[in-house]
Order: sequence, then C-alpha cells, then structure tokens
Amino acid sequence: MTSYQDLGLTPIINATGAVTRLGGAPMPPAVLEAFCEGAGQWVPLEQLQAAAGRRIAELTGTEAGLVTAGSAASLTLGTAAILCGFDLGRIERLPHCDDFPCEFVIAREQRSGYDHAVRAAGARFVEVGFNEIVSNAGVRRTEAWEYEAAFTENTAGVFYGYGHDSQPPLPEVIERAHRHGLPVLVDAAGELPPKRNLSEIAALGADLVGFSGGKAIRGPQSTGILCGRRDLVASAAIQMLDMDDHLNLWDPPPELVDREKLDGLPRHGIGRILKVSKEEVLALMTALELFSSGAYDAEWSEQHARLETIASGLSGRPATCTIEGSIEAERSPTLSIAIDEEALGRTAFDVCRGLRNGTPPVYVGHGRLAQGTLVINPLCMSDDQAPELSRRIGEELGG
Ligand SMILES: *Cc1c(COP(=O)(O)O)cnc(C)c1O
Repeated sequence: MTSYQDLGLTPIINATGAVTRLGGAPMPPAVLEAFCEGAGQWVPLEQLQAAAGRRIAELTGTEAGLVTAGSAASLTLGTAAILCGFDLGRIERLPHCDDFPCEFVIAREQRSGYDHAVRAAGARFVEVGFNEIVSNAGVRRTEAWEYEAAFTENTAGVFYGYGHDSQPPLPEVIERAHRHGLPVLVDAAGELPPKRNLSEIAALGADLVGFSGGKAIRGPQSTGILCGRRDLVASAAIQMLDMDDHLNLWDPPPELVDREKLDGLPRHGIGRILKVSKEEVLALMTALELFSSGAYDAEWSEQHARLETIASGLSGRPATCTIEGSIEAERSPTLSIAIDEEALGRTAFDVCRGLRNGTPPVYVGHGRLAQGTLVINPLCMSDDQAPELSRRIGEELGG
C-alpha cells in the first residue's frame, strides 16, 4: 500500500472541519466497509443509480434522486437537465447553446465561485438586484419582482444559492418562476445539517436541489446528491451515465429514465466527465442512512470535550477562548480563540501561518482571521490530537 508518507507528505491536524481543500469529512467505518464491498463486485450503474435514487427520493420527499460527483457536479448536471430535457440535439451540443434558451437568472448577491459549475454547462447568468448593503448605498436586498422583470424568451431557469439568510425567500422566487413555467435549481451544498433540510428545501417547491455528500453526510468527498423532478433527474442521469450501449439492448430502469421519451440513444453527455463509481454510490448511501438516522449526533459530547482540552491548555496565553454551539444545532461545536494581537505582537494571520508550517502541520478555521480569531472545529480530529493541537497553538501564542 502507498501511504501519504511514501509520497512525501506529512498528514496534518485538520481543525477546520469538513472543508474540501483539506479532504472533507471523516468517513465512518461502515462507510469505508461499504466502499470496499462495493469495489469487489460489479453491478450495472444505471440499475445502481435507480436504486440509490429511489432511496434518495424517499429521504428527500422528492420524485427522484441521483448520486453525483459532488454538489458542484449536481449544479452542472441540473443546469444541463434544465437546458436540454430529452432533446438529443441539445444534449449533444452542450456547452454550446446559442440556438436555445440558456439564461439563468441569479441574484447578484448570490454569485459565488461555485456558480462556475452552472456556467460550465453552457448557461449564462442574468444578474438581478444590487449589492447596496455591501457598498453602503442602501438598505434593501434583492427582491422577488426583480427576477420576474428579468425573464425573457431566452430564460431557461433560475439559480438560487440557499442559506439561512438568503434573500428573497426561496418560496417567493419559486412562485415568480413557476408563474412563467421556469424551473428553479437550488444549491444547498452546505445546508446540512440540520437533517430536516434534506426534505424541507425541496418541499418549498424547488425543481432541483443539490447537496454535498462529503460534508456533513460524511460520504466520499467526491460525492453529492441531486434530487427533485423526475423528468429533470432523468435528463441529468442520461447526460452523466456512460452511454456505450446499443439502443435495442439499452434497458434503463423506468423509474430512472422513461425510454419512451427519448428519440434515440444520446452519446456521452456533458456529465460524462462527472462520473461516479459503484463503490462511491454504495458508500454515499451508507453515509446518508447514518446521517439521516441521527447516528452522528452521539459524537457531540466527545467533540465538545476535545475543545475543552484545547481551551484549558491555552489558559494564561494572550487569547480569549469561547466554545460555541449546542447539541440542538446538529453541528459540531466550535472553539473560537480571539487573539490579543497587540499583547502578542503578531497577527492571527501570522499565527495561522506558523501553525501551518509547524510540526505537525496544523490547519485551523481561517474565516475570522481578519478579526484576530482562530476557529477550531473538532470534526476531523482524534482525541489524542487535541492536546497536541493545544500545545502547538500555545507555542505560537508565545508559550
Ligand atoms: C461545498 C459547496 C459546494 C460544492 O460542493 P461539492 O460537494 O464540494 O462539490 C457548492 N456550493 C456551496 C455553497 C458549498 O458550500
């Protein structure tokens, strides 16, 4: 077996949680077993995706589901489905869509690096709203009427980035879109937990919703979920799955693809670059069962104890430690370490850099460095790493 060390890498202490840059969430033993089991046997991918999709549909309260290569892949596939439906010519032409409607309306304030996944399918954004609050020029955020005013014959759909504070509210956007027969694609990649979001976002009427499989669900880092309308999920499936078969033999499960709707067999679609392996599907489905049954909730107290160990090791240092979060939030508790930069004579950026370059390398949450604060998330740490982490931070804080 080749190890990270064989390749010249030193494994880090990951105190950031399930971030993609550092490899995502820890996979529970049952998920790893499913991966290994799945790798030793062979099944037709269409049948596997249909079966996984049935269970995803149950758990999300939607018509259909698909295991994708991450939530970003769900966005590309969902966009491709909305652009093409079952039109074989369009499926073949993507990402070029000059001769059919390809515009997605998006709130300017919901633009993010992840929307490249929508544009990758060929869609073009039409932005609405203004960043008035950020620019100190006003007090209002994007409003639902602005979407409707932007709809034209070139509009294909609406893209919505879901968050607890997203504006305008998703139901208002859906109402405006559906009034014009336009579908709404929702990015909910990071909106789990809470578990109820698995079904509640789709229940608002979204046509397609994408989730990450490698964040809170704790499946393989390279997996995700697309769920929603049966016809759209079917279109996404045929644009992702390998199509190297004969039309007169091709026999996809009818709940995945209604063959009658197709005029022939498409060639590999734009989603063929986003393939998911059989063992990844099995591992994700195992993780999804664990997540949705609340199996991870039991770890909260252990995680909290890890943070207490770290905080107590830092007493006397020029920093204020605060543990945040509650078990009801269904999220890992976090420890914020607010550094007295003046007393220390170093900034939080300096400390963060020192931790990354130390032995062992330590990566902490870096979202609040500008405010002088390090954030510790215990999800990807082991119990014996807590004292080590505390020691390293203590050293950087002048111990
Ligand atoms: C993580 C994330 C994604 C990408 O999800 P992957 O599963 O890593 O592809 C997309 N959008 C948002 C808002 C995210 O947080």
